Amino acid sequence: MLAGIADCCYVQSGAGVLGRLGVLGRSRLHPTNGMNLRDYQQQAIRDIREAFRTGSRTALLQLPTGGGKTVIFSEVTRLANQRGHAVLILVHRRELIDQASDKLSRIGVDHGIICSGYKPKPSKVQVASVQTLARRLKLQPFKPRLIIIDEAHHAVPGNTYGKVLNYWPDALWLGVTATPCRLDGRGMGQMFQTLIRGPSVQDLTARGHLSTARFFAPPITADLSKLHSRAGDFIQSEASEALNRSTITGDVITHYQRHADGLPAVAFCCDTKHAEDVAASFRSAGITAQTLLGSTKACHRSALVQDFAHGKLQVLVTVDVVSEGFDCPAVACAILLRPTKSEALYLQQVGRVLRPSVNKSHAVVLDHVRNISRHGFPDDERDWTLNDREKRGSKGGPPAPAVRMCPDCFAAFKPAPVCPECGHEFQADRTIAQADGELVELQRRNKRRQVGKARTLDQLLAVAKERGYKPGWAYRLHAARRHN
Ligand SMILES: [Zn+2]
Repeated sequence: MLAGIADCCYVQSGAGVLGRLGVLGRSRLHPTNGMNLRDYQQQAIRDIREAFRTGSRTALLQLPTGGGKTVIFSEVTRLANQRGHAVLILVHRRELIDQASDKLSRIGVDHGIICSGYKPKPSKVQVASVQTLARRLKLQPFKPRLIIIDEAHHAVPGNTYGKVLNYWPDALWLGVTATPCRLDGRGMGQMFQTLIRGPSVQDLTARGHLSTARFFAPPITADLSKLHSRAGDFIQSEASEALNRSTITGDVITHYQRHADGLPAVAFCCDTKHAEDVAASFRSAGITAQTLLGSTKACHRSALVQDFAHGKLQVLVTVDVVSEGFDCPAVACAILLRPTKSEALYLQQVGRVLRPSVNKSHAVVLDHVRNISRHGFPDDERDWTLNDREKRGSKGGPPAPAVRMCPDCFAAFKPAPVCPECGHEFQADRTIAQADGELVELQRRNKRRQVGKARTLDQLLAVAKERGYKPGWAYRLHAARRHN
């Protein structure tokens, strides 16, 4: 049995009064009705309990996409509710309302939903769309003791979240997010006192809770170095103008067919026009594709997501709707067509494809805008804090990401002497080999020559067989050469 959370917890209210509060009680973490928590999820709940117990009024839980944050905050809600506390769960998308509501129902937590289109229901637990709630604040008879903020990196003092949160200044706040920094790179220290870190992407991948990914960064004909920035990110209208060209989109489709043909894919575009044009190009190539945008009506939106989940739709093209709260583990390919300086946005986008699923041996990321060079691999160690994010590579900031690109097949991988996709060997590594001895170098040169001489697919297949490589190596190399 796990120890009690905040059984004797002193929390300072806005007025400076100390009060005794047992928000999460002594309850067991394991509910009896089927939601088995993983060990790190139980640990996260213990850490949340400890943060409140030791005096924080506001805590932020960081957990990679796919780590099960809805499971964790639903359990926290159940525990607080069991103690008689009112809990408000704030979300910013309709899809997230349904996800939270489903999880709560599964563990037997009675709740209401505050969102346009849903009938209000009195309950001590409410799941609310932050936008709807902001309009109905004065109508609420309800006074939450704990406010849970899903995708908490959106919460900023001056925005709608700030307005709603400050309406109940005595409540405890628990934020949850995969990326504890604002999309403009600012830290979350203005909103939260304590940061609780869950396991890393690398940990979750090693435990089989996340899928591995193959990255490709095919070159494009647009010059992205000329893009200007506003509010910490590239101006997307400029990026759209540079990228929304039929030659570029044609290449995007070719690479999708080469590396991820038939896999359910999400393409992230710069703006609505770009998304619509990309979807149309996919359709003219005979690939079912539809846009999912902020303006897409709710009923059409859920139909699209259903079609996608059931394989009737191959490619969903979006601007930012799918970045968060889109829970479809089958999606196996991310097509990045929106250059961004936001590490958070990049991680949210790539995170969509890392959920494991049956029939998915790995995910594929096709990064046509070199976001990987800016932000690294999703499983790179990240030093999350509540402070502002330093620009990578800048003085005092985290180092620029270590990424190597293969000139033959455009794979992007963590620095290694040989491309893991096609076997291309890198020049710089030959110098090391020379230091190790002439023989090694000679063997490497012969190996390269053998690959260079093999021009046809059959010849490449023979080389693959001789070296014990998988036939896919030969197919990929052959396809990459044809494209050049
Ligand atoms: Zn390669």
